[in-house]
Amino acid sequence: MVKIRPEEISSIIRDQIASYNQDVKSESVGTVLQVGDGIARIYGLNNVMAGELLNFVDGTVGIALNLESDNVGAVLMGSGLGIQEGSSVKATGKIAQIPVGDKFLGRVVDALARPIDGKGAIVADSERLLEAGAPGIIDRRSVYEPMQTGLISVDAMIPIGRGQRELIIGDRQTGKTAVAIDTILNQKGSGVICVYVAVGQKASSVAQIVTTLSEQDAMDYSIVVAENADSPATLQYLAPYTGAALAEYFMYKGKHTLVIYDDLSKQAQAYREMSLLLRRPPGREAFPGDVFYLHSRLLERAAKLSTEKGEGSMTALPIIETQGGDVSAYIPTNVISITDGQIFLSADIFNAGIRPAINVGISVSRVGSAAQVKAMKQVAGKLKLELAQFAELEAFAQFASDLDAATQAQLARGVRLRELLKQPQSAPLSVPDQVATIYTGCNGYLDTLEPSDVRSFLTGLRQYIADNKKEYLDILSNNVLTPEAEELLKEAISEYTEAFLASK
Ligand code: ATP
Ligand code: MG
Repeated sequence: MVKIRPEEISSIIRDQIASYNQDVKSESVGTVLQVGDGIARIYGLNNVMAGELLNFVDGTVGIALNLESDNVGAVLMGSGLGIQEGSSVKATGKIAQIPVGDKFLGRVVDALARPIDGKGAIVADSERLLEAGAPGIIDRRSVYEPMQTGLISVDAMIPIGRGQRELIIGDRQTGKTAVAIDTILNQKGSGVICVYVAVGQKASSVAQIVTTLSEQDAMDYSIVVAENADSPATLQYLAPYTGAALAEYFMYKGKHTLVIYDDLSKQAQAYREMSLLLRRPPGREAFPGDVFYLHSRLLERAAKLSTEKGEGSMTALPIIETQGGDVSAYIPTNVISITDGQIFLSADIFNAGIRPAINVGISVSRVGSAAQVKAMKQVAGKLKLELAQFAELEAFAQFASDLDAATQAQLARGVRLRELLKQPQSAPLSVPDQVATIYTGCNGYLDTLEPSDVRSFLTGLRQYIADNKKEYLDILSNNVLTPEAEELLKEAISEYTEAFLASK
């Protein structure tokens, strides 16, 4: 017979009480009412926050976007094929965040900052909110340092400053991406960290860009965020915010960053798709009413931080594709009004063989001139004026048969200056080279050459300076064209012109 010993029982109970340490955790769980087209409607998540991450049973992550009185509309970040009606959904209590860190440099990631380049996991340093607030007025200072693109037309006439937002706008296939990629290539050695966000592009185009960046050793200081045309609309919509969050990590550490959003038209289309599926009321061009906010909250994150905040900066180059050169459509006008200027690329100019096809007449930069380097200011004013006069003359010279000598000279100068602005892809020029090039053109040293010889002459001249006039480059490293530098430049031009003509 078993005898019950009270001491034993009480000791067991005492042990149990001593080790009683239950975790009380409340979880907000809802039920899927309806799922499809990348959207889920959920019942029962009463305390969910707007933008909160949700976990579905099949592992799909969603974001709660529409908080309605009787249900929650969420978008899925994934196919969501395993989600069934009636299955449960857990709210995580976290607003969408992504990991960030130094190890992201050189990598290709998706909109959730997961690596997609097959080079293994990325060790993050911390996390940042996808939708972080933009720095306030007190935390900023005005733009004063140049962001060199390496393109003569831009650096001389539409200068961009660090912390500026400059729109690149144009029809399809006019070289918008090329301008942006050249700018990244030109940042080599300048300490600027570049983030290239590809939204809704062909996977092959993005692969080509990554290859170009790797071949030119530009991946060391770059991050590519890619959501291609076949990705869910949600991820295409999020990708630009991911790029901004990655750049912010570096900006708040006092670094200079450059973010390219290629392109925001596709992001707006993805957002329209999402919004229509969520049954938000469509407005102009069927975009939802808050499409302006979509872009303004993104672009406001670009900033030049104050000295107290470490002087970091984020320069944004958003890209917008127009249809038939129509800049007055809804999305282009929105983004034009948010940015500090635009670089306008036009199909006519591109087809006429002038590349980069920048229409200097209608491109502007509203804050960058404060950041232009002195040497550039010294030579660029004349270039702009001569080109403007040339554009005017050219239009009416087509009708006049006999022109006076002065007009003919001006036309000849203009033709050569236009040649001078042509630049091949992936060949950005340094400031001293650009100054030498513009100086040569604006002071008439090209007037005697055949227009078709201008480009080979200038390429040769720059090489000649690099080989024989190192002092010029040394002086220009201070970004000022001193009288001595000008003298050296003149010498180089006359010496090289002689050699060039002799070789002909
Ligand atoms: P999409 O609308 O497809 O995005 P895009 O406007 O971004 O096009 P790019 O892809 O940059 O244009 O360029 C279009 C074509 O023009 C490409 O084949 C590119 O190689 C060529 N191109 C761009 N810039 C130059 C240049 N400076 N010199 C010569 N070719 C160029
Ligand atoms: Mg492109």
